[in-house]
Order: sequence, then C-alpha cells, then structure tokens
Amino acid sequence: MPMTVISNNSYDLVVIGSGPAGQKAAICAAKMRKKVAVIERKRTIGGVCVNTGTIPSKTFREAVLYLSGLRQRTFYGRGYAVKDQIAMQDLVFRSDAVMAREIEVIKSQLRRNRVTVLEGNARFIGDHTVEVASDFGSTVVHGEYFVIACGTRPAHDEQIPIDGKRIFDSDQVHDLQELPRELIVVGAGIIGLEYASMFAALGVKVTLLDQRPIMLDFADREIVESLCFQLRQLGTVFRLGEKVVAVGFDEARDRVFAKLESGKKVQGQALLYAVGRRANSDQLNLEAIGLHPDERGKLKVDEQFQTSVPYVYAAGDVIGFPALASTSMEQGRLASCHIFGVAATIPPNLIPYGVYTIPEISMVGATEEQLTREKIPYEVGIARYAELAKGQMLGDDQGFLKLIFDPSTLKLLGVHIIGDRAAEIVHIGQAVLAMGGTIEYFRDTVFNYPTLAEAFKVAALDGLNKL
Ligand SMILES: Cc1cc2nc3c(=O)[nH]c(=O)nc-3n(C[C@H](O)[C@H](O)[C@H](O)COP(=O)(O)OP(=O)(O)OC[C@H]3O[C@@H](n4cnc5c(N)ncnc54)[C@H](O)[C@@H]3O)c2cc1C
Repeated sequence: MPMTVISNNSYDLVVIGSGPAGQKAAICAAKMRKKVAVIERKRTIGGVCVNTGTIPSKTFREAVLYLSGLRQRTFYGRGYAVKDQIAMQDLVFRSDAVMAREIEVIKSQLRRNRVTVLEGNARFIGDHTVEVASDFGSTVVHGEYFVIACGTRPAHDEQIPIDGKRIFDSDQVHDLQELPRELIVVGAGIIGLEYASMFAALGVKVTLLDQRPIMLDFADREIVESLCFQLRQLGTVFRLGEKVVAVGFDEARDRVFAKLESGKKVQGQALLYAVGRRANSDQLNLEAIGLHPDERGKLKVDEQFQTSVPYVYAAGDVIGFPALASTSMEQGRLASCHIFGVAATIPPNLIPYGVYTIPEISMVGATEEQLTREKIPYEVGIARYAELAKGQMLGDDQGFLKLIFDPSTLKLLGVHIIGDRAAEIVHIGQAVLAMGGTIEYFRDTVFNYPTLAEAFKVAALDGLNKL
C-alpha cells in the first residue's frame, strides 16, 4: 500500500469514529473554531447507532408495531393485523429509508461545521500521530488532542457458529432473508430483550436464555415483572439462570439448538446471539501511546473523559456503561468542552434509560430497590394507563407510571414507566428531578387532556393520598 505523508494534516482535534460520541465531540470543537477531523473506517458515517444499532432497530420496531397491528388488538381482537404475511423485507424497507436520511443529516451537519471527514482505519503510530489507511492508500494525521470514539461490535465466542443466516448477531438481524417461525435468543440484556419482544409481537415463538437469574438489574423490579408478564402473553418462554454450553445446527432436522448446562436442549428455526459487545480499541494500536484497555477492550477515563494519556480522551461505548447513543453524544460533547477549557458536566443521577422492548420501558432517578438498600424512606404513587383516557384510546391497558418520592419533603426521587411512549414522557419527570422539585408540581399543574403525560398528575394524587 503506498504511503502518502501530507505535512499540513494537523488538527487541533482528531476524533476516531463517526458514531454519536465522535460526531458531537467534533461539532462541539468545531463550534469553538477549532480545526477538527473525524476518521471513519466504514464507507458510511454514523457508527453503530445509524447503521446497525439504534436507528435500524427502533425503525424495525415501529414497522413491527404498525404491520402487526398489536396496539389495535385491544379493539379489533387477537387476530387483527395490518398485513397478514409479514416478510423481513416489509420490516427492513422502512429502516433503510430512515438510515439513508439520517446519514444525510449527519453529513450535512459535519460539512456545515467544517469538520474534515477522513475515510480509513486509524491506528496510532506514535505520540499525537495516527495513520489512516484505506483502499486508496495511507495518510499520517497529527492531532493536538484525540477523542477515541471507536465504539463496539457484537462479542463473539469461538464455540458459537455464527453464520449470519440461522445463527446471527444483532448486526445481522436486518440481513435475514426470512422471518423465523421460532427464535432462540441467547442474552437477555437490552438488545436481546428488545429483539425478543419485537419478534414475539410478530407471532414468532421466542425462547429467551440467560445465565443471569435477573433481567435488567438496573431497572425497577415491578416494571421488569410487568415486562415478563406481557412478553409471556405474547408466547415468550424464559429460561433464566441457565448457562448455554453449546449452540449448533442439526442438519438432519434442519433445526438450530442450544444446549444448557442443566442438560436441557432448546430448539428453534433460528438463534440470535446477543451476549454483550466488545470495544473496537484492539485495532487502534494503543500500545504505541501507552494506553491499555481492559479485557473487553474498554478504556478507563476520569470524570472529564480523559484517559491516562493527557492528550487522549475517550467517549461513547468504548468506555462502557451505560453504552447508549444518548449518553455517548453527551460524553463526546463534554470531552471536547474539557479539552478546550469550557466547564460542563452530566449530573449522574439524571441520566434517563429507555428500553425499547414491546412494551417500552423508561426510567430516571432512584429505584425502590436502591433506596431500600441505602435505607432511605420513600413513598410511591402509581397511575395505570387503563385509568387514563389516552391509555384506553391507544389500546394500552397494561402500562403504568410510578413516582417515587420522599414522604416528608415530597421531593421527587425517581420515575419508572412501562407502556406506550414511556421514553418520551419520562422527560417530564426528569425536568422536575433536575430542578429538585416535589410531586406537588404534578398535582398543581394542568396537563393537556387526554394525554399519557396526565399519568404524572394521577400518580402524584395517588402518592399524596397515601400520606
Ligand atoms: C441493536 C442495538 C440497539 C440499540 N438501541 C439503542 C437505543 O435505542 N437507544 C440508545 O441510546 N442506544 C442504543 N444503542 C446503543 C448505541 O447504538 C450506542 O451506544 C452508540 O452507537 C455508541 O456510539 P459511539 O459513538 O460510542 O460508537 P459507534 O456508534 O459504535 O461508532 C463508532 C464508529 O467508530 C468507527 N471506528 C472504530 N474503529 C475505528 C478505527 N480504528 N478507525 C476509524 N474508525 C473506527 C466504527 O466504524 C464506527 O462507525 C443500541 C445498540 C445496538 C447494537
């Protein structure tokens, strides 16, 4: 491969990766009039978020909800569907359109802010210096500062024969040629659960396996129990606390199987392997600058997203939990702010979590379990969607919103929601939490009617009635 060294290839900030963390780090620095380059090894920009993760999966979910007619079944009966025979092509068609538009939006934002996009694989070759290699040759780029936002890829295991057809990972869901009749999902983390619920809503018989006995351990237990109940209603079978020891394909029977440590054998037409993700830092030659990731490739950073090498910052999935597009964007922005001397922080207890299962879950603030552990007294107010006019109109009679508050000061401590639009309305609670407000705000505020937002008022009244 020819090597071209361009002497003026020097930037104030070099960002590795064009996902949410990289984009926001770059744009934030560019707005401070810095000379910025983003290096992306893929042909398309946007990272996992736009190309294989958030955007395709959430658009897929919208297509599932629409075509399956799931929300309408409360009114028109269990057999109702907008389309009788739903094919994978029907589901991914919508994702392709949304992804193409998102890519255009990102390209235009980077262009408007005069961020240079360099295509190629970046690897450190010395202090402040990376080599960017593509099919067209190599370039050496010099950066005063770096933000590593190289993201992750699905973690694979040599024992799991992933072929992208019958045994596939979350990056390959959209390439499936046909919708399986039965699906085994290995891994009940957020990604595994989201896809399990989408396939279950399509009428696929789903079996969910995880060696951990508890799912979504950061979420409110009552909410998780409700999720399990609703997924069982869709025919999902849970095998939790069960370790998968082998996965294979039985050619004679044309079946995929997963053997469990307990001796059970689960069979199906296809298997989704969704057991964690591995950071892409292994391809960056970080030894050249004395940086050492952990065994999953994650980089350690301080509160300002600075690594142990002072001119190198890291943001997004490469630094680990919570590994969300929402938090990655903010981390990228904050890293740039710190690099160029602008004060900014994320209040840690105000990060919202959205889990786009069917039904949707969202939360912000403390859980009952956390407060109990910390011996902090609390009271709870609940609003059930079945009691809200809007909940009934939407056909969601299972959803609920829970407010957790301090019984003596009435200060809001946490908000937990399962049901339609949970991830949207949680932000009302987040705003009150950020202001240090009390649940009296919800009692004394007029909400549009009928809305799901009204659940905040109903839950506040329920909580106050308990005192
Ligand atoms: C199925 C799925 C569903 C998800 N759903 C949600 C959701 O609903 N909400 C949410 O908030 N989050 C969701 N996420 C998580 C979200 O996608 C990630 O948190 C987010 O994309 C991380 O952003 P990032 O910038 O850290 O990295 P990424 O988006 O992974 O981007 C990293 C980029 O760096 C590039 N790169 C890597 N190494 C190099 C190199 N050496 N040289 C040049 N380029 C390099 C990669 O090609 C990639 O484009 C989901 C993830 C998955 C997998």
